[in-house]
Amino acid sequence: MKLLIKNGTLINPHGEKNGAYDVLIEGGRVTKIEKGIEINGAEIIEAAGKHVLPGFFDMHCHLREPGYEYQETIRTGAMAAARGGYAAIACMANTNPPADCAAVIGYIKSRAAEAGYAKVYPVGAVTAGLRGEALAEMGELKEAGAVAVSDDGRPMMDANLMKNVLVYAKNFDMLVISHCEDILLANEGHMNEGVVSTELGLKGISRAAEEVMVARDAILAGTYDARVHIAHVSTAGSVEIIRQAKKAGVKVSCETAPHYFSATDEAVRGFNTNAKVNPPLRTKEDAAAIIAGLCDGTIDCIATDHAPHHEDDKNVEFAYAASGISGLETAFSLSYMNLVKAGKMGLERMVSLLSYNPCKILGIKGGAITQGGEADITIVDLDAEYVLKKEDMVSLGKNTPFLGQKLAGKVIHTVIGGKWAVRDGKVI
Ligand SMILES: [Zn+2]
Ligand SMILES: [Zn+2]
Repeated sequence: MKLLIKNGTLINPHGEKNGAYDVLIEGGRVTKIEKGIEINGAEIIEAAGKHVLPGFFDMHCHLREPGYEYQETIRTGAMAAARGGYAAIACMANTNPPADCAAVIGYIKSRAAEAGYAKVYPVGAVTAGLRGEALAEMGELKEAGAVAVSDDGRPMMDANLMKNVLVYAKNFDMLVISHCEDILLANEGHMNEGVVSTELGLKGISRAAEEVMVARDAILAGTYDARVHIAHVSTAGSVEIIRQAKKAGVKVSCETAPHYFSATDEAVRGFNTNAKVNPPLRTKEDAAAIIAGLCDGTIDCIATDHAPHHEDDKNVEFAYAASGISGLETAFSLSYMNLVKAGKMGLERMVSLLSYNPCKILGIKGGAITQGGEADITIVDLDAEYVLKKEDMVSLGKNTPFLGQKLAGKVIHTVIGGKWAVRDGKVI
């Protein structure tokens, strides 16, 4: 199959060419990046007025299979990812059974291969059964194909165990992804602790619950010269702790998710359970600090923390509702609107945050359109606007506080491994 992308603007900060170039795809690979390519027998993708980007990479999502297929399956998750412009995703281990052994990692990989669409890279559990006690077999997980380890969904409360994990992971060159939440400080809260939680009479989660753990992990990584990656940074304080740690040479990297710079705890008003997420939506000061961190390189990448839930798990009293936002299909629009259109950064930087940087953190090749490289390409229309509707979402999880909102910047086509995954906004 030959595909020729014509007349688009290539935004490719980590590839050799950028700007007004055509891209030829043959046999799943990019074979030519030149101006005015003419060739017989190729299907033409007309991209005039559109931007041609390296396919995005989400290093943090939840696919719910095995165990919770009513919330999302590997197939529906991989489809939703492609629709959001993602060529690849890394899925967290908190399934049932959890991905704490080679058998579950192998199962996820084979289900993903059957599904097609976005490539799926499993993240293995740090501890057996995600119990925070005995370590899982890190070597076995790596050999089976796990690209990182994390007990995400649950924090590692035992600091000594965390120290051992970081030191042990060094031997396997495994990235440890840390869900930073002091469960005792979080005190079974349901939203950000502040004015809104007081007004609504909901129990709050302090910023400190996140920040003390970010500080702890940065100190451990620095002390033992180990790497650590902080998941879903949500507070101004966390950004500052990581900024200082990086300055001191600590091997810490981190991500945030689009909802932390696109919404605040105001979204919870009316007891909107679709705005319930962990860590919780914070304030506009936090969102501004997160954007500043994305601009100055303190925050390395944007991940979705896509957490699909069934309506029944959200259609209950706020305190009982499940935490999480379905994020794969809105990440591009939210990032474009709040980072680029809002004048905070250029499109190139945003593209790096969504594609190249997460690949680099995980040590996976990707995030750039290069001659001879795999043809993972996303074509977007920055001028397109649309209203986010439940019925248009491909993910089984329709739980997002952005429903009904007008969004700007739309993924039009996604080509993965040289094959159509999404065409004219529709999953193939
Ligand atoms: Zn988490
Ligand atoms: Zn997560």
